[in-house]
Amino acid sequence: MSIAIADHVRNIPRSGIRDFFEIVQTMDDVVSLGIGEPDFATPWHIREAAIYALERGRTGYTSNLGLPRLRRSISDYVCRKFGLAYEPLSEVLVSVGVSEAIDLALRALLNPGDEVLYHEPCYVSYAPSITLARGVARAIETSAEDGFRLAASDLEAAITPRSRVLMLNFPTNPTGATMDPADLEEIAAVCIRHDLVVMTDEIYSELIFDGGTHTSIASLPGMKERTVFLHGVSKAFAMTGWRIGFACAPAALIEAMMKIHQYAILCAPIMGQDAAIEALERGDQSVEKMRKEYELRRNFITGSLNDMGLDCHKPKGAFYVFPKVFGLTSKEFSLRLLSEEKVAVVPGTAFGASGEGHVRCSFATGLEQIKVAMERMAGFVMRLRSQAPAG
Ligand code: PLP
Repeated sequence: MSIAIADHVRNIPRSGIRDFFEIVQTMDDVVSLGIGEPDFATPWHIREAAIYALERGRTGYTSNLGLPRLRRSISDYVCRKFGLAYEPLSEVLVSVGVSEAIDLALRALLNPGDEVLYHEPCYVSYAPSITLARGVARAIETSAEDGFRLAASDLEAAITPRSRVLMLNFPTNPTGATMDPADLEEIAAVCIRHDLVVMTDEIYSELIFDGGTHTSIASLPGMKERTVFLHGVSKAFAMTGWRIGFACAPAALIEAMMKIHQYAILCAPIMGQDAAIEALERGDQSVEKMRKEYELRRNFITGSLNDMGLDCHKPKGAFYVFPKVFGLTSKEFSLRLLSEEKVAVVPGTAFGASGEGHVRCSFATGLEQIKVAMERMAGFVMRLRSQAPAG
């Protein structure tokens, strides 16, 4: 007997990243620029706080919304870093990573057939999460020429009477794109005019380079009441495995998200919640150390890629570069680079059709490894160029 799978689940493709990394795992001596996860271990003071909490026997469930102490830490952190004031007990929900918060917000907001707009290339989970919430995913293409920013005119042109939500992710996975306050103001004006709810995934917002600052769209006039602010500790604090994210939003939406979370998940793990309190309250210096290291790597990798002739815009945030490739599709380039030089990068098409012609290289890996990868990649690109037909 074969068990029938629901149509909307069966039709979702598996993540392109996962398929690719199943191949990588069968090979030896691969240098991987493919992983979207910090190479640092969680800073010691955070691990120590979690160990101490375990020693005190803190191993049970927490309130569905998360530990009240953590929600106060989140509220203070978000106020300090983003200038946003959320009431800790009614406007903050602790989730199992930003991943769960995205799912909760979409499920709480969408009726079947409602459209969700998002800028692409984008994080692999957005389109499938929208489909799983019975929404309709509508990608808005962005390009390297515009620094992968979302233009207000492109947003305006994509809106239909069914458009309900705009998803934003700046700094962006996979391009490292950022938006200036002036860009965000234009987007905010369109959202207000068309009554869109904004879900803003700001998981990379601490990782900003060149002395820049980060502005949350939620902090612009008229936006907080229509915005779900999503953040977590995975990236900046090197805490992917602790599975802690959070959503800040108007109380009625948090209450709706809590109902789904309560029945599906119950609560985020208490060990991760105790660790997140330490991270948010005392983690700034640790984050800054890692941010500086990412900036050094960003400078090196962007320079190397451009030197070898792969046009690469210099990202102002996150830990990814998204160079242009030539002569081959993104997938062919990635597969040949892997088999001929044992360097793993992710085909740009894993992040949506508009990623064609690019690959994603993560610099969340040590500088020595990045140097080896760049040497191997330069050899590959040189060979590719010599094989290209003249003219
Ligand atoms: N959002 C973006 C843009 C990401 O890149 C990722 C992970 O790569 C996530 C969310 C998932 O984060 P979390 O570990 O908090 O679930």
